Amino acid sequence: MLIVQKYGGTSVGTLERIKNVAAKVKARSQEGHQMVVVLSAMSGVTDGLIKLAKEISRKPDPREMDVLMATGEQQSVALFCMAAKDIGLPAGSLLGFQAAILTDRMFGKARITDVETARIQEYLRRGKVVVVAGFQGLDWDSGDVTTLGRGGSDTTAVALAAALKADVCEIYTDVEGVFTADPNLVPNARKLEAVSYEEMLEMASLGAKVLDIRSVEFATKFGVKIHVRSTFSDREGTMVVPEDQITERLMISGVAHNKNEARLTIKGVPDTPGIASKIFTPISAAGIVVDVIIQNTSAEGKTDLTFTVPKTDYDQAKRILKRTAKEIGAAEVLGDTRIAKVSVIGIGMRNHAGVATKMFAALASENINIKTINTSEIKISCVIDERYTELAVRVLHEAFGLGQEKPPVAEDVV
Ligand code: ADP
Ligand code: ASP
Ligand code: MG
Repeated sequence: MLIVQKYGGTSVGTLERIKNVAAKVKARSQEGHQMVVVLSAMSGVTDGLIKLAKEISRKPDPREMDVLMATGEQQSVALFCMAAKDIGLPAGSLLGFQAAILTDRMFGKARITDVETARIQEYLRRGKVVVVAGFQGLDWDSGDVTTLGRGGSDTTAVALAAALKADVCEIYTDVEGVFTADPNLVPNARKLEAVSYEEMLEMASLGAKVLDIRSVEFATKFGVKIHVRSTFSDREGTMVVPEDQITERLMISGVAHNKNEARLTIKGVPDTPGIASKIFTPISAAGIVVDVIIQNTSAEGKTDLTFTVPKTDYDQAKRILKRTAKEIGAAEVLGDTRIAKVSVIGIGMRNHAGVATKMFAALASENINIKTINTSEIKISCVIDERYTELAVRVLHEAFGLGQEKPPVAEDVV
């Protein structure tokens, strides 16, 4: 088999842990598999680098920021290969540019556009375990180093698995798989045996950081089978697979939360054709992803628009929005960074009414006010005050019976 494995920051968080991972990889490769191992930076390292940059500059240059951030993964792969050689495992490291992971030029959130696997294949032919630095790539046109956004090593791994047509992409992390809610927040959260691409995509985009959203996009597009499992136990984890391979169709598969968004409102917008495009074009041109857009009914030819953006993009989005407000003659721009989004997700809700009502009732039972609501075929999200996030997640997990041994399946619920 050709196996791509990825180990996250906690899994390689100390030298001892790096040695432990090297031993795991050795054991697996001795079963006769070809292996490509993607590593994250040791836990805390990326945060530390960002802190350093902010200390030296109020607004660090994005190109140099990526040069700096890429050093975290560079350390891990080098240390890993040293440990591997000491235990007799032939391993060779490749940085993003050496592995030819090509991206666009959006520093800090670059998208993988292509992977040229020739060098990796060559290493594999020579019987080596190929150890690729996660999270980093190369903008071919300029030759510049790029990074893929927080959590991006998952995407490196899945993109490599797709390009190499690997049999499986194993994501090793600090929990045993994908759970019905963040197990660090909800003690009775249950591990899912399998979850569909579509649900995982929603979960990831709604805050379940166990997989980076772009990694799930890649997996969906190229049919990569993902196995999310723990570095610290041998138990089976969660398979992320096409929907037709799911046997247990739960009504709701999970509750997700996200505290990393902020809300912007532009008030008194002239309600004329083309206005939404004028507002959102400059924001998306800056690479900022907008979510949950709400436009109020207009009164006297004026309307208000509210939307959310990632907190990391909040200042920039607000600046852009203020500029646009001036241009189009809007009244004012307001912002709120103390919000959170809680969501319930499940393919089972496609054919069932009543999920929304249950969700609203559960939140109301704890007096949690809903600021905005957003739905799709397989999810319902509510924006609430950030203070109530944990409470909301627990109450929703309980209300949908997710902690139970046998949570409601889609067929049971009317
Ligand atoms: P890594 O460093 O291995 O990439 P991450 O911290 O990025 O690990 O992701 C794993 C974390 O995701 C877990 O420790 C857990 O707190 C969080 N998480 C959030 N939602 C879920 C979920 N539904 N199932 C599993 N883990 C979740
Ligand atoms: N080291 C990067 C981060 O902390 C990428 C990753 O771990 O996936 O976000
Ligand atoms: Mg991660």
